[in-house]
Amino acid sequence: MNDSFLEALRKIVGIEHVLDSHRVSERATHFWDARPLVAHVLVRPANTSETAEVLKLCHANNQLVVTHGGVTGLVDGNLTTDQDLILSLERQKQIETVDPVGRTMTVGAGAILQDVQQAATDIGLQLGLDLGARGSCTIGGNVSTNAGGLSVLRYGMAREQVLGLEAVLADGTIVSSMNSMMKNNAGYDLKQLFIGSEGTLGIITRVVLRLRAATPVVQTALVACRQFDDVVAILGHLDKSLNGTLDAFEVIWQPFYKLNTDPTRSDTVSAPLSPEYPLYAIVEAKSAADTQNQSDTTFTSALEHLLEKDVIVDAVIAQSKTEAANIWYIREHIDIALEHHPLFVYDISLPIASMEQYVKQLQHDVELYWHNCKLFVYGHLADGNLHIMVAPPELTEHKMSADANNTDQNTSESVSRHKHWREQSNTYVYSPLQALGGSVSAEHGIGLQKKQYLALSRSPVEINLMRTLKQTLDPKNLLNRGKIIDINPPSSSN
Ligand SMILES: Cc1cc2nc3c(=O)[nH]c(=O)nc-3n(C[C@H](O)[C@H](O)[C@H](O)COP(=O)(O)OP(=O)(O)OC[C@H]3O[C@@H](n4cnc5c(N)ncnc54)[C@H](O)[C@@H]3O)c2cc1C
Repeated sequence: MNDSFLEALRKIVGIEHVLDSHRVSERATHFWDARPLVAHVLVRPANTSETAEVLKLCHANNQLVVTHGGVTGLVDGNLTTDQDLILSLERQKQIETVDPVGRTMTVGAGAILQDVQQAATDIGLQLGLDLGARGSCTIGGNVSTNAGGLSVLRYGMAREQVLGLEAVLADGTIVSSMNSMMKNNAGYDLKQLFIGSEGTLGIITRVVLRLRAATPVVQTALVACRQFDDVVAILGHLDKSLNGTLDAFEVIWQPFYKLNTDPTRSDTVSAPLSPEYPLYAIVEAKSAADTQNQSDTTFTSALEHLLEKDVIVDAVIAQSKTEAANIWYIREHIDIALEHHPLFVYDISLPIASMEQYVKQLQHDVELYWHNCKLFVYGHLADGNLHIMVAPPELTEHKMSADANNTDQNTSESVSRHKHWREQSNTYVYSPLQALGGSVSAEHGIGLQKKQYLALSRSPVEINLMRTLKQTLDPKNLLNRGKIIDINPPSSSN
């Protein structure tokens, strides 16, 4: 990258918002990866027009661009090389307008999810989107990954919260689709092109969000069950009997429950229910402010009914925000699992009816391949989404011995074994999904990590249409090149 290019960037965004590779390396790679970030340059445009000017310049100079929001993405969609220009949305975090009557909010794509949630709460409404990374992830990242999270059951995924957006194409063209209407069938709904396309078709700079009625009355419970059929029965009963207030239904298989309630560690919570049961579910209902007594009664009666029917073996209802937070900690705390090296992490979806058998088979497969392999499973069961972590123990030992000896040979063996084992684990997790009509990515996207498995969830016709869209909107293949799909797949490249 030549000096005149950098100079032109500085003219667009200001000197202090163009970070050279040295300053880039002072930043962390990722939310939980402390390694230095790599890129040729990082640019922080202040608004849509500066973003458009930067992209025009990149287009003229064939400069590769990777967009960064909060960098919490889990599929390497935000991964960079030293050839890339990082376009960071961190200055575009303004909450522009809030309309309590139309129930909409217009925000910059760099706005942090938690700040947007708070702004909605401040006017007595709420955003129907919540996820564990709320304090760091951005609305632009949420929309471009079509994030799911904890309230999908009730409000749908990020896509369902978006009424309009503004995006900049690879050549700097601004597509302003700042619709704020619930209904607008005037031709193609172009915003959908950018939702879930992980920054490969354009950079989202502004978003019009749909807001919902606030539901400050919250009931949270943890229940334990003996078998998977009971979990399904609980979901069915609560869905029916809680008058549409069921907000979250998270299932946790025993190993993950035990991990986060381990009494021998200081970074766990004490188990609200005995760890002897095979399955647990966190159920949460949320309703309007004036419904406290009625909601409490309905929630308690629904759980009592399930206890009487012996569908639930044990249950605890949170009596305070702290108790509720302790229950959620069991589901959201992943740090202990991350201590396993390596840990192969998955986000898949499949029909609820197939889940029990799928998990059993997976358990069988990984234990056969790696003696004493740990398998942690939990997920947003109601939307068919499971999160899976495969932790083979032997590699931990191997890595430690390689690190201790610190020889090149050991390191390269360790790397190649890690790769091989990841592929093996991927095969066990992904290959049954096609026949079950499931997906290799429920909510995290494809990025780089799942690219080779995309064909298990999308047909050749669908993948070719994706390529056509990419080539049409980004003919030079500059935006997030190589993420989701390759433009010249191996078979057709020369
Ligand atoms: C603790 C934790 C919990 C999580 N829980 C969930 C969960 O429940 N559900 C879920 O779906 N995900 C979850 N995630 C994953 C992640 O938080 C989401 O994918 C989130 O939407 C990413 O937002 P971000 O701003 O961090 O985006 P980044 O990580 O910065 O980017 C993600 C992708 O979007 C692109 N991108 C970012 N901003 C823009 C933009 N403005 N325009 C175009 N492209 C852009 C990037 O190039 C990249 O491809 C979790 C992650 C963590 C660390």
